[in-house]
Amino acid sequence: MINIVLFGPPGSGKGTQAVKMSEKYELLHISTGDLFRNAIKNETEMGLKAKAFIEKGDLVPDEVTIGMMNAVIDENPEVKGIIFDGFPRTVTQAEALDVFLNAKDKPISKMIALEVTEEELIKRLLNRGKDSGRADDKDVAIIKNRIDVYNEKTLPVASFYDKQNKLVNLKGEGTIDEIFSRIAKVLDIIV
Ligand code: ADP
Repeated sequence: MINIVLFGPPGSGKGTQAVKMSEKYELLHISTGDLFRNAIKNETEMGLKAKAFIEKGDLVPDEVTIGMMNAVIDENPEVKGIIFDGFPRTVTQAEALDVFLNAKDKPISKMIALEVTEEELIKRLLNRGKDSGRADDKDVAIIKNRIDVYNEKTLPVASFYDKQNKLVNLKGEGTIDEIFSRIAKVLDIIV
């Protein structure tokens, strides 16, 4: 099984690249952001728990996020591999994911981290906010909070995988196809 953590700050293009990766390599794409947005839309219990955090640009509590992720992995036992988009976002989540996957003998293969300057991130997110309807992409203060939360709580997750020699840093700027071909070079070696 090929399990890839696609990593990077908000607006780094994880969702866009994950869709292309899942098509080319036939991997299951799991986006925690999409799962939460769906849960909110459907007014599920989990959606109600997540809503206030997402609106402020804070992280949803680890126990909610980890429980949701474990359930989705267990619902898809036959897949060739998984692209984790937006998860893990804290070291606690990364540790929990390792325990969960290692127990199934399906460890994380690589973390692919997309690097984008903060100026470019804010520009992209405000642009996305214009047509996506995502409230968390419309307000500069909320965007800045998400970037702060990323720097404080999520960046250490890169070191977590680096210590396991699984981290690959890639430039996340350029055209969508240019970035995808950088990712494909990494995946072609392991798939
Ligand atoms: P982006 O990468 O642009 O911030 P996402 O769609 O990945 O967007 O996430 C949207 C929001 O969902 C985050 O700001 C956060 O509130 C919540 N979220 C997503 N993934 C996680 C996670 N792994 N842990 C906690 N909260 C999460």
